[in-house]
Amino acid sequence: MKVDPLELDINSLTRKCSMSRSEAISEIKILFGFANDLDQLELIKEPGVMRDPVKLKKYKRVFNDRITGKPVAYILGYKEFYGLPFEVNERVLIPRPDTELLVNLAIEKIQQYSLKTVLELGTGSGAIAASIATHLPNIKITATDVSSDALEVALANAITLGVNHLIDFKYSDWFSEISGKFDLIVSNPPYIAEDHACLQRDGAKYEPSIALTSGLSGLDALTLIVSQSRNFLNKDGWLLLEHGYDQRDSCRQLLSAGGFTSLFDESDLGGNPRVSGGRIEDES
Ligand code: GLN
Repeated sequence: MKVDPLELDINSLTRKCSMSRSEAISEIKILFGFANDLDQLELIKEPGVMRDPVKLKKYKRVFNDRITGKPVAYILGYKEFYGLPFEVNERVLIPRPDTELLVNLAIEKIQQYSLKTVLELGTGSGAIAASIATHLPNIKITATDVSSDALEVALANAITLGVNHLIDFKYSDWFSEISGKFDLIVSNPPYIAEDHACLQRDGAKYEPSIALTSGLSGLDALTLIVSQSRNFLNKDGWLLLEHGYDQRDSCRQLLSAGGFTSLFDESDLGGNPRVSGGRIEDES
């Protein structure tokens, strides 16, 4: 009996990358289309092309990358975030759908309180800064990263999206190169504990660990940002932070100890606490 090569690949992906059969089929279609410059519509119209031996050969190379754990976004060099296309590679964290909550809340606060200046710490691919800029072209954004590699990717994304004139990209180790004050500070810092089991999951070893982990508790960067933000916020300025599903209480304690009021937190679409924030009511 002849075994369909794609059927074998579906089974391998399901097993090795712990995904469902339908997830594996959809990834294989994406990889096949990418390897052969075919869009998803062409694949639907002509499913037989997926069994063409010449085309299968091209696809095999990207499938091998995937089966060794490389995330699809790095293979394609692209990830959609907030409805926008972002170039990604192994120099930056892949933007997560969960982080769209942080962007929504930042846009909400900017509109509600007529905020004018934003500082984003640890911009990575630039997804947060560029998404805000695309929706609110009248505010001034400074976006930092300690990785020059990441800043290059972020700038390229801002140029592609036509918002580079709205964002000042700056090399900075958190606040080290920052001066002045802002109406809003926003960050999705690394927050995973260094020995957390989730770092063994599919794909994690391909992402920059500097963007994922932060000390033994995962709270090092969050602690530093909360403790220093006060010096860089205008009166009534807001701080919004993404954090781990189990870090809401720790974040609340940090914010409260740091003198923040109007504390709030919001859960992501998966129902996990994901963003916490507060504001500084009196100038330091
Ligand atoms: N939310 C990401 C994850 O779970 C981590 C991103 C981060 O540390 N900021 O992989």
